[in-house]
This record gives sequence, structure tokens and C-alpha cells, in this order.
Amino acid sequence: MFGKGLLKGLKITIGRFFGKKSTVQYPEERLPLPDRFYGKPDFHYDKCIACNLCVNACPNKVIKLGTETVEKKKVVTGYHFDQQYCLFCGLCEEACPTDAIKFTKDFELTTYDRDTIGIEFVKQGQIDKKIKEVKQAAAEKAAAAEKAAAEKAAAETKSQTEEADKAETTNKEGGA
Ligand code: SF4
Ligand code: SF4
Repeated sequence: MFGKGLLKGLKITIGRFFGKKSTVQYPEERLPLPDRFYGKPDFHYDKCIACNLCVNACPNKVIKLGTETVEKKKVVTGYHFDQQYCLFCGLCEEACPTDAIKFTKDFELTTYDRDTIGIEFVKQGQIDKKIKEVKQAAAEKAAAAEKAAAEKAAAETKSQTEEADKAETTNKEGGA
């Protein structure tokens, strides 16, 4: 029949027009995202222990971790995330023992410039603060160790003096 295809198409269009809406007015309206959705990464500097596990877990070499040894302790000096190569597989998050790297549900990741798509999470202020804390903790530990050693030496001297006095008293009693 002539126009059969057109009628068939119109039937679908009219049905959809009066049916349940399946689109939303993005960006004003947003659909709920699944719990395991991987969006923009978020890095928690204070939780990172510079173990490198996320770097090794990443199949695409997206993460570059910078560290510096201060007072025999590793301090994170950089955490660069080259988002353009990320597969959003979540292996880095899974590998992290301290939840320092977590993915948010923010999916609006576009930039106008390729050079700005990478994220440098660590700020100089955070590094300076951390180094100061590490140095202060090391100084406090050394002072505590010094104090304990001095107390131990004083206790040993006191015990030796007491023993010498005791021996002298015994000798005097023996001689009398
Ligand atoms: S989500 Fe996957 S690809 Fe992206 S940084 Fe983590 S491990 Fe690498
Ligand atoms: S796995 Fe976690 S704690 Fe270890 S370097 Fe990566 S972000 Fe830091």
C-alpha cells in the first residue's frame, strides 16, 4: 500500500510523543550515576604514603609520582595525573591502600587545550607544610631519645653509687 511506511513511522513518532519521556534537560537535569561510576579523579595528599602502588597498577602510565626523602621519610612532592590517557578502569584506586586516590562522579572533563587536561594535584604549600611536619617530628623523636638515654645513664650511675655505698658499709661492719 502506498504510504504504508510513512504511517508506520508516524505511529511510532506519535506513540513516543505521548509516551513516557526518556530524555532529560541536561545540564539543568542530570540522571543518577551508578555507584561504580569513575569520573574525575581526586587525590588526598595527606593520605598518600608514596608507596607507588597506583603507579605500578596503571596500565597506561597515567600517574607520575614525585617523592623526596626528608629525615629518612618519603615525602610526596608531585602527583601528576595525565587524564587524557586514563581508561577510568579504577585499578589505581583499587591498589591504593589508604584511599588517597578516589574517583568522583564528575564526568565533565573537557578542556579547550590539551596541555591543561593533565592534573597536578600537589601544591607547593602542601609540600612545605609536610616537610616542616616531618622535620619537627624527627626533632621531637631525637629529643625524646636523648632524654631517655640521659635518664637511663642517670639511673645507672645512681644504682652504681648505691651498690658502692652498700659494699663500703658491709666492709666496715666486717672490719669491726
Ligand atoms: S583509572 Fe586506570 S588508566 Fe586511569 S590512572 Fe587509574 S589505573 Fe591508570
Ligand atoms: S597507591 Fe595511594 S598511597 Fe600509594 S602512592 Fe598511590 S595514591 Fe599514594
